[in-house]
Amino acid sequence: VNIAQLLKAKGRAVTTARPNAKMLDIIATLAAKRIGAIVIVGEKGELAGIISERDVILALAKSDNGIFNDTVSEHMTRDVVTCQESTTIDEMMELMTQGRFRHVPVIEDGALVGIISIGDVVKNHIAEVEMEVTAMRGYFATG
Ligand code: AMP
Repeated sequence: VNIAQLLKAKGRAVTTARPNAKMLDIIATLAAKRIGAIVIVGEKGELAGIISERDVILALAKSDNGIFNDTVSEHMTRDVVTCQESTTIDEMMELMTQGRFRHVPVIEDGALVGIISIGDVVKNHIAEVEMEVTAMRGYFATG
């Protein structure tokens, strides 16, 4: 199974914001959409960074005066690890485990075409394991 198949099931919608967006709006969007991260894009839609709920917590812990009026560019991660549609689920699990992040934007020909969260990966993994168990039970039963 690769990312293209996963995107077919979950859709290609990606919530994005610009680097000059205020943290107040970023937090409101995270809450309203019940998502864990927003991809930050430049003028031409190019990837500029990612902001996740973890960054919000870190920023709050460091701040004396609050973060609502800061721009997201002050708190986002700029060095974003991305994947392609051809990336496999196993590779994705490795990326997320090694990098200790739970979101990976999907880039195809320089364009943002989706985002995979750890929840999407786990959901797929459980479905695969269940299918294997069912197949094995059948195999042993008819053995
Ligand atoms: P998360 O686990 O996604 O909430 O993110 C944990 C930390 O990793 C935060 O500082 C994020 O900005 C950062 N992060 C999230 N996704 C990525 C990614 N794909 N590449 C690099 N950093 C990321």
